[in-house]
Formats: sequence, C-alpha cells, structure tokens
Amino acid sequence: MSLVISKFGGTSVKNFKSMQNCVNLVMRNQARKVVVTSAPSGITNNLVALGDGGLTHQQRIEIFQQIEQQLHDILNMLVDTNGLISDRLSIMLNDMRELASDPELNICPEKQDWLLSYGERFASLLLTQCFIEKGVNAVEFDIREILLTDENHGSATPNTAALGLLAKDLLKPKLENKLVITQGFLGKTESGKTTTLGRGGSDYTAALLSEALDAEKCEIWTDVAGVYSTDPRIVSEAFPLPELSYDEAAEMANFGAKVLHPATLAPTLRAGIPVFVGSTKEPEKGGTTIVQDCEQEPHYRAITRRREQKLVTLQTPKLLRTNQFIGKVFSVLDKFGLSVDLITTSETSISLTLNAGDQTNLASASKGALSELSQMCDVEITSGLDLITIVGNKLHQNNGVTSKIFALLEDVSLRMISYGANPHNISFLLDASDSESTIKKLHSGLF
Ligand code: ASP
Ligand code: MG
Repeated sequence: MSLVISKFGGTSVKNFKSMQNCVNLVMRNQARKVVVTSAPSGITNNLVALGDGGLTHQQRIEIFQQIEQQLHDILNMLVDTNGLISDRLSIMLNDMRELASDPELNICPEKQDWLLSYGERFASLLLTQCFIEKGVNAVEFDIREILLTDENHGSATPNTAALGLLAKDLLKPKLENKLVITQGFLGKTESGKTTTLGRGGSDYTAALLSEALDAEKCEIWTDVAGVYSTDPRIVSEAFPLPELSYDEAAEMANFGAKVLHPATLAPTLRAGIPVFVGSTKEPEKGGTTIVQDCEQEPHYRAITRRREQKLVTLQTPKLLRTNQFIGKVFSVLDKFGLSVDLITTSETSISLTLNAGDQTNLASASKGALSELSQMCDVEITSGLDLITIVGNKLHQNNGVTSKIFALLEDVSLRMISYGANPHNISFLLDASDSESTIKKLHSGLF
C-alpha cells in the first residue's frame, strides 16, 4: 500500500476556502491517506495569550469573539445536515471558555496544554467535515490515542516505540478504506493528560507518523512554495530550492529558517523518508524535496538569519582554569535546557551565544542561567546582534570556498565567526543593523 502523509499548516486551514484547497489537493493523489492538521492560523497564538493570564477582561472577550468568529465562518459554509458538527463545536467552545477562565490556568502548564489542544481539535473537526461533504470517506482520529509523550508540558517528548506499535494497531487498519484526519502538535501522557510538542510541532507529528506507518513520503503543505535560498522578504531574488539534504535542512532549521520545526527531520531521516514542502495555494508550482542524497551538492545552498542574539562573555574566576570553568558553565546551561551555538575562549574569558530551539524558551531560560552564572563570575551581555549562517556542503574545503565568503564580507564588522563543527555551515555574528545588507550582498555574490 503506498502511503503519503500530508500535513497542512495553520494558513492552509485558516478559513473555509483554504480548507477546500486542502481537500482538492488531497483528492488528487490516492496515496494521501493521512492528513495532519495544525490549528487554523491565529488560534494557537490567541490560546497562548489566554493561557498567559496577562489580559484584561475586555481583551479576553475580544479573543473569544475572534476565535468563535473564525470557526463559525467555516461552520456556516458547511451543510452539516443534522447539525452534529455545530453541536460539537458549541460544546467545545463552551468548554474552552470555561477552561480559559480558570484562575489557576497561568500557573498550570497541564491546563495550558489542554487549552492549546483546542486549536488542532477545532481544525480536525471542521476539516473532516469538509472532506465528507465532498464525498470522501473521511474520519477524524484523535492522535492522542497513539502519540504518548513524557510529562514535559509545552514541549513534550514523544514515545516513538509506543507510537510505532499503536499506529499499526489503531490507525493503520482504518487506512484500508478511509482517509484519516488527525491533529498535529498534540500528545498524551501515560496517565491521560494532554500534552503539546512545542510551537510549530505539527510538522513533527507528520514526520513521526510517516516513520510509524512506514510512509513513502511526508508532505508539509504551507503558504510558500518550498524552502527558499534566503528570506524572500529580504532578498527579492531569493528562489525556492528544488532539493535539500536532511543535513542542510537541519542546519537551516537550527539557524533560523522558519520552514520546518527543527525536530521534524529526525524521524524521517531515521526511516529514510523524503519530506516535501510546498504551497497549498499553488501546489502546481512544486516545492522542495528533502532527501538523504541530493543530485547536486553545491557549496552554497542557503543563507539564514537568527535575530536578537545575545553575546555572553564570562570572565574566568581567578582560581579556575578555563577548561574547568567551561565544564561548570555547560552544566548550568544544560540545567536550563540551553545549548551553545558559537563559542570562543581565551585564557581569561569565554564568549558564547545561546540557543534553546524556541525563542520563548530562550528568553526565560537565558534569564535563569545568566543569573546563576553571575554568582560564579562576571557576566557581560551584548545585545542587538544577528546570527547569519551560510548553509551548504564541503564548506571546509580549502579551494576558495570560504575566501569567497570572506571577500564579500570585507566591509562588514563581524563580532564572532564560527567555522561550523560540520562541513554544512559557517556562521557569524554581527550588528543587527548590518544584517539585511549583508544577506543581500552574500546572496548576490554566492548565487
Ligand atoms: N498550532 C501549533 C502552533 O501554532 C502547532 C503548529 O502549527 O504546528 O504552534
Ligand atoms: Mg506551523
């Protein structure tokens, strides 16, 4: 049985019209048997805002209205003969309101995840009905039945072994004669509590399901026709890349390209399943296919940017040697779930930039880590920096590959350079005010 998993992002299910595009697209290929949906765009952000507890009464009312309006606009376009979908939607909306008014919500990650889960569940309810009304034998499937996770609410880790077994038992039999619509982003703990996989996690769900069901392809349908050579909002000549390797795509995700959730590639890489990224609105434009071995391996593939980076400089305490000190610093960072992107050391200090995979986590984790580090040593923080990364292949080769890059950067003052730990990236840190002009210069010079 050939099987393609198709994931639709928030913009692809934001209203009735875009849901119809999804339906038409899926119907064009019989192998598309599992549809993974994100929340309609805007809803997760709204639910996050409700969960944070920082809103006024009036703002909360406005958010409720926005969510209801968006969903009712879709519902109203459905035939929904016996009113079942309308009934289910009102029950869900009532429950959501009640939960969103819980005074403990902002201090309870468990309840916040439960609240966030409404976004994807609204989407799967309505999208399934869109398919049914087009005559497709579609059924909604609750992903939490098979996607078990740990208890780390907000950024839970899936149990892939359990998923492999449960997907074969509970999901696969349905695929013989049905199209399954399920939710991205959600999971459930052993004890039955709803969890989420981290913002943007629906891509990851699609990849996990592809691995569990041994799919031939994992499709990520979004609002752009693939992964671009750089951000087209900065460089108008940026172009979609027909192919990318897993390694290159992982570097791009890590260094700021917001196309795929960074964890997405691990399961598909393990299982050797190609990942396709394309646009729901213009599927005929093609897109980017991410595979193990590309037909071409150019030195320069893409340029990415991560904004608002901080350069942290730590003075080595008098009684410690730098290498002992590094060990202590890393254990503090580890405790806060932080990793280091760029690092340089000297006899008396260490400078580094921090990463947490997710900007919101980064802000709070850095705060905690830096306050702990400041009890060990002097800490100096420089802000207003961007990290630019050139992603490609064999960037370590000495035949002019790097000199070409640095020739283009002659007039730019760089704060830190990292000749990547693998041959797929070279990164540098520079003043944020120089970053757009530098990306333009690099793009026209390298491509
Ligand atoms: N709806 C979730 C989010 O906005 C998950 C996703 O879209 O992938 O983060
Ligand atoms: Mg997304």
